[in-house]
Amino acid sequence: MEQFARLLEPITIGSLRLPNRMVMGGMHTRLDTLDRPVERQMAFFARRARGGAALLITNGIAPNAAGRMDHDSAVLNEDAPLDDYRRIAAAVHDAGGRIAVQLLHAGRYGKHEDCVGPSSAQARINRFSPRRLSAGEVWQTVADFGVAARLAREAGFDGVEVMAGEGYLINEFLAGLTNDRDDEFGGSFENRTRLAREIIAAMRAAVGAGFPIIWRMSAIDLVEGGFTAAETVEMARIAEAAGADALDVGVGWHESRIPTIAASVPRAAWAFAGSRIKRAVTIPVIGAIRVNKPEVGEQLLADGHADLVLMARPFLADPDFPLKVKEGRAEDINTCIACNQSCLDRMFSEQPVTCLVNPFAGRELELVSRPAVRPKTVAVVGAGPAGLTYAINAAERGHQVVLFEQDDRIGGQLNLARVVPGKSEFDEMLRYFRVRLAKLGVDVRLATRATVERLAADRFDSVVVAAGVRPRIPAIEGVGHPMVHTYDAVLSGEASAGRRVAIVGAGGVGFDVAEFLAGDPRESVDPQAFYEAWGIDPEQQSPGGVTAPRRRSRPREITMFQRKNERMGAGLGKTTGWILKSKLRDAGVRMVVGASYDRIDDAGLHYTVDGESRCAGVDSVVLCAGQESQSGLYDELLALGIKATLIGGANVAAELDAARAIEEATYRALEL
Ligand code: NAP
Ligand code: SF4
Repeated sequence: MEQFARLLEPITIGSLRLPNRMVMGGMHTRLDTLDRPVERQMAFFARRARGGAALLITNGIAPNAAGRMDHDSAVLNEDAPLDDYRRIAAAVHDAGGRIAVQLLHAGRYGKHEDCVGPSSAQARINRFSPRRLSAGEVWQTVADFGVAARLAREAGFDGVEVMAGEGYLINEFLAGLTNDRDDEFGGSFENRTRLAREIIAAMRAAVGAGFPIIWRMSAIDLVEGGFTAAETVEMARIAEAAGADALDVGVGWHESRIPTIAASVPRAAWAFAGSRIKRAVTIPVIGAIRVNKPEVGEQLLADGHADLVLMARPFLADPDFPLKVKEGRAEDINTCIACNQSCLDRMFSEQPVTCLVNPFAGRELELVSRPAVRPKTVAVVGAGPAGLTYAINAAERGHQVVLFEQDDRIGGQLNLARVVPGKSEFDEMLRYFRVRLAKLGVDVRLATRATVERLAADRFDSVVVAAGVRPRIPAIEGVGHPMVHTYDAVLSGEASAGRRVAIVGAGGVGFDVAEFLAGDPRESVDPQAFYEAWGIDPEQQSPGGVTAPRRRSRPREITMFQRKNERMGAGLGKTTGWILKSKLRDAGVRMVVGASYDRIDDAGLHYTVDGESRCAGVDSVVLCAGQESQSGLYDELLALGIKATLIGGANVAAELDAARAIEEATYRALEL
């Protein structure tokens, strides 16, 4: 039997035949906020259709103005530019794909003054307060969903999905937590589910039989006062009885304090929630979350947790995911590492999404790799993220690449990141790089130092220096004390930290080192350990499926320091920084801001805060004070008149981060 036979099996939703079980989930991309928005979306979706997705689901589009996510979000009503939607649907069809519109009423999560909800209670995560909808307005909202579904069909889309989970409007009506109404839409379970039933009925009446209506619901709310397992299952049955053709199962409300999709969540950790729903209905269940590999998806289908596998970010990381599965080259998949850095974090900073491992995502119009007109011989020095990316992109264009690495393995700083709890997905990046280098025939020379003489003698057409960075050693008296180590020595295992640790510097690396020293690696790979650590009740006996989290063990006393007198961790990722800070807080890590360092001696780290001298009595000090570029080779090459290109951390150490390094290397390799 074929390895991914289940993923590749056709299935029908309503009257729509799908060629396989791999669905691209709806994502906010913000491509519609750029110039040429329609062309960008056409190119974005068509690319993923060509890659073999069974069905594409659009970003959430509001059925009326009050339901917009942002003030500039699209609305699918009678005034909508239907021709634009027609072009998007046609582009997908021309590419051999299928596409459904997601209708999303943001409810009290709408980031604008006109947001509405079942009550006027404000969401913790929104600075705008909702206005309470009157019963008449709720009925109008029902009608608006019907109109939007009809328009989606008229525009040529293959189906509609309704966002009824994750804490948006419909979910707010369902939960007693947010619904305090005493009219026909509040009070009893029957009344709270009325909006859901009426919306499905209105849409069915508008689109007729067979046109797929997919109902996206939260299988576990992860907020106190959310649904129990029995209520969730009942809601799934109600949706089926009301006329939904498939259920798409999500997890958690956005305001939940439990991570749901970050890399700190074990793969397929939410499978249990989908299977409970699948057992309750006969229509197909689209499930999962934190599925980034075909093996994981195939297993979910084999175990009966879902009928189709929904993946969103993996389609940013690799639009050809299904095609590679079909062609038996799953090892070629550029795997989503669940970092959120270039997708969700950018989206929440009002930038269009792209992807850390695939900078082509969202840039389909301008970033195109074409075969080189005149293939060159290229030396790339350094096999960290920048050098690896450059080598692969240059080789893909037909250049002949030699990659020099002084270490005996590729990866550079990735080898440090991968040991941090919650970052083991970095292994997938390394696997992808290894496979691509081999398949493209890049001449990889490990444990080989590229000297100026060697590079000059081999007369390469082009030399690229991606030699990376070295840790900055801050000018603190006593910094040479034996208890002082740099972060790379600690993360690589070359040095071990004691029981009482001071961390000097609290950027991304300082936080990573704290988590490395305090965290439990099992929590991000073993679902049971994850549930216990975050207080998740998989049986969902408690409303919302939340329970008391296990108290984290405190193997060390750790204090983090920074000189800036501002909140620590302000520069961490918007969607992941809170997870890390919450874990470290629970592990008892202390955070000192506004410190100036006086000296290090046998007693520990002496510092001054608010004019008061103190001493942190520690047995280890770990330096996480940023990096400096290793650009010496580049300077030597220039001095000899050899033209070279400097990229990655070797170019700009101050902003060293994998996303920037990979993006820069990609752009430069396409210029070659
Ligand atoms: P960083 O973000 O620049 O932080 C360096 C830290 O060292 C700061 O806390 C800085 O704070 C302190 N520092 C700088 N110069 C110092 C000096 N001379 N003496 C003492 N302290 C000094 O660098 P990083 O933490 O090494 O991270 C590098 C890059 O990797 C960043 O772009 C980061 O975004 C990325 N990264 C991200 C993540 C993530 O979670 N997404 C994880 C790892 C790395 P004060 O100046 O206030 O003391
Ligand atoms: Fe996945 Fe990170 Fe890319 Fe987002 S940026 S799609 S999380 S790899």
